[in-house]
Formats: sequence, structure tokens, C-alpha cells
Amino acid sequence: MKLTRGKITELVNEPGCEHNSKEGQSNKKACKQQAQPGAAQGGCAFDGASIALVPITDAAHLVHGPIACSGNSWGSRGSLSSGPVTYKTGFTTDLSENDIIFGGEKRLYKAIAQIVKNHQPAAVFVYSTCVTALIGDDLDAVCQAAAKKYGTPIIPVHAAGFVGSKNLGNRLAGEALLDHVVGTAEPEYTTPFDINLIGEYNIAGEMWNVLPLFEKVGIRVLAKITGDARYQEVCQAHRAKLNVMICSKALINMARKMEEQYDIPFIEESFYGIDDMNRCLRNIAEKFGDAELKQRVEKLIASENAALDQKLAPYRARLGGKRVVLYTGGVKSWSIISAAKDLGIDVVATSTKKSTEEDKARIKKLLGKDGITIEKGSPQELLKVIEQTGADLLIAGGRNQYTALKARIPFLDINQERHHAYAGYEGMIEMAKELEEALYSPIWQQVRCSAPWEVGIGEPIAGNREQGTGNSDQEIANSEKELIGTVVPVAEPIAEIGGV
Ligand code: SF4
Repeated sequence: MKLTRGKITELVNEPGCEHNSKEGQSNKKACKQQAQPGAAQGGCAFDGASIALVPITDAAHLVHGPIACSGNSWGSRGSLSSGPVTYKTGFTTDLSENDIIFGGEKRLYKAIAQIVKNHQPAAVFVYSTCVTALIGDDLDAVCQAAAKKYGTPIIPVHAAGFVGSKNLGNRLAGEALLDHVVGTAEPEYTTPFDINLIGEYNIAGEMWNVLPLFEKVGIRVLAKITGDARYQEVCQAHRAKLNVMICSKALINMARKMEEQYDIPFIEESFYGIDDMNRCLRNIAEKFGDAELKQRVEKLIASENAALDQKLAPYRARLGGKRVVLYTGGVKSWSIISAAKDLGIDVVATSTKKSTEEDKARIKKLLGKDGITIEKGSPQELLKVIEQTGADLLIAGGRNQYTALKARIPFLDINQERHHAYAGYEGMIEMAKELEEALYSPIWQQVRCSAPWEVGIGEPIAGNREQGTGNSDQEIANSEKELIGTVVPVAEPIAEIGGV
């Protein structure tokens, strides 16, 4: 695939994306945003492409550019593997000034040769970056020559950072898969219920909570695109009967084009929350239209929901009525509301950044008339919303944890850096456990006490001390001791309340 202006315009104007629909037209089209020199973009197109492809675990991912591009994204996502770990090694051609002047193609060829010889990957994905795109290295020619010589698929990924946003990079990754990978191998056998999961990256192992459910009802996941995927399975994805896009429109171009090229319909589903998980299973069965499959799905939902109700009861008792501000992106803005509601938690505000018009409509419905939507969440804005709503907890991405600390409320990380799997029925228990631990941690009582230096002359620190002069060294030392020794109730160990 040559990265032409026409190709970029086509992807930016992807008709499957809500931002491009008539109703969805707005001034804030995330995928249309141009990179602003000197401003943090929240990931470049190269970053977006590597997010979408690196989870292919038995492939090597080679960044053709200065070493800093690799450092930009390598290892920042907890996308887990159940087998090969080739993808975990960061490979880069680490261009020097000389390569930039004389061209980096020879260096790239040597790097591919070294990777194939030392690691025998199932394939090598080669990513262009700003520098190598600007100096005009012919990625396609080098990849083609190396593939011919070594008999290993070498896939060029044209997603130099300057072409646009992370979102556009996701789509460019989808194009690379469509052009070079999907349809290049046949599965040993097919079943009537073969599906692909698109846009599920197995962060913290979330997909492993869901795969057994599909297996139980007889749905085969032919290809995971791309969480915990093997290269070969992505090659066979064109034989699936249904594409299930998971909580992400990032690869919408891929789903739409597979429908055009291979006649595979697609649906968008979420794995977060009991209702959404139930709906996902039902919708897949409905799409296949098989009565027996529908029955198996209903039976599974009934048994899973009954077991879950029992396991969640102690958590619901402790979490019910808590007020939460949610600040995350895209579809998680509504799918997590649904999961929180299942636990009796009241989401009082949520963000609408990167949300499509369809997402926003769902958010409105789930939040109710009093819910607040946050378009741009600067720390000041978030602090204001937390104060205004009297929120007990902030659920957001890692970088917002300091905002929560400033507001002296607990925080739960929901973004790609998280270490806990919240998807599927199992994920609900994990989420409830994490929320319970965060909310009832004894630290919050201490954090909300006044600091010794904030205590006025003669004022008691913990509110029940006898008044003193407060200005002698001895009294200040005593104040500090007392603060450190403040007795706070310790939350009951969760194993005792739920037996989970
Ligand atoms: S590809 Fe360009 S924008 Fe992205 S990390 Fe490299 S130099 Fe920066």
C-alpha cells in the first residue's frame, strides 16, 4: 500500500465512522485532527498503527526510524500473550545521521535479516516513521526483497507519525492487514459459527474472560484482531462468518472492507458489564439465526448471571449508592457506565471525548437528565466536577490519578495501562473487587486529615485533642505523631465477605 494523499483522505473520511455521518458532523472530529507542531498529540499515527498490530504475539515488530520512536510506545500497553512473546521485544533500526543522509534501506534490510535469523518470527511488521518517510526510504521494495530471500512474510506499515492522529494510525494498520495478511492462508476447517474479534487487544488478559464463553456455546473465534493473535490466524480471517467489533471503531475501515470484499457482516459489541455481555452473546446468536445456538446462549446467560448475582451480592452491598466520575475515551464512556450500574454505582458525570454521536446518545440515555457530560477534561475541570457532584471516586486513565489525589478521593485506572481484566462476567467480579478495595482503603481517612503544617495554632489535628498553644516544638512533634497514629477502621478482607 502506497501512502498517498488520496489514501489518507479516504481513511479520514471513512464512511463507517459516525464522525463522518451527516448526523455526526461536528467540529471535533478526532480522526481529522491535524498534528500540531510542539503540542502533545496523545500519540501519532505510527503509535496508533503499532497499538493495533503489536498484539500479534508471534510476529516481530521493527520500527524503521530513530530509536526514540520505539521508546514512544513500546511496552506501554499491557496486551498479554498466552504463548509466544516475540512481540515483547522492541526492534528498531536506530537510524544515525549517516543513514539519514545516505538512506536507511541497507540498514533496514540488515535488520530484517538479523531478526529472521535470530528470532524466526512468524512475520515481521516494518513500521515507517516520520524520518524514514521524509528521506524517502522505499519500505515496500526492501520488505519485498527480504520476504523473497528469507521466505518470511515481511509487512510494510506506512503510518509515519506526521500523517495524522493515533486513530488514523489504527486504520492504516487495518489497511496493512487487508493488503498483506488477510486472505493469504486457509483454515484447516471452518464451522458455521466462525467469528473474528476486531479491535480487542487483550489488555490485562481481558479477552481470556470471554473466549471460554464463546467456546461453551459453540462459537469459534477464528481470528483475534489482534489481541493474543498468531499471525496465521489473521491470514485466515477472511473465512469467518461474522466480524464482531469490540468497543472500538478504530478498525471500522477493516470491518467495512471485509464486508465488501469477503461478504462478512459486522456488528459492534461491548464486553463490559453484565447487560452488555448478555447482549453481545444474544446479538451474535441472533445474527447467525440458529435456534439451537440461541438456546445454548440463553442457558449460558441464565447460569452465568445466577452465579454472578451470588458472587456480587456482598460487593453490591458495599458499593451501592457510591457516586463516580468517569473520565475515559470513546465507547468506554458508556460501556463502563453500564458496568457500574450493574454494581449499583451511580455515575454522575462522564466524558464524551472521542465519542461518536451514537456513543453520545447512549451516554445520555444511561446517565439520565442529571448526569454531567465532560467534553474536555483538564484537571481543573475534573476537580470542579468532582466537587460539584460530591463524587466518591474517579475512574479514568493513569494520568488522571494525580487529579484524584488532589481531590482526595480514590482512583481506578481504566485505560490501557491497567493491570486488571474487567471484561466479561469474570471481569465484573474483578472490577467490583478493585472498586471496593479503592473505596474502602483506610488511607483515605488519613489523606483527608489536615496536614500538620495546615493545623492552626492550638487547633487539634484529629478533632478530639485538647487545645494547646500549638507553637512549641514539642507540640508540633506531638501533632505529627498523633496524625501518623490516627486510628482508622480497616476494611474487612474481601475473601470473608464474598468467598471470591
Ligand atoms: S513517528 Fe514521528 S511523531 Fe511518531 S514518535 Fe516517531 S518522530 Fe515522533
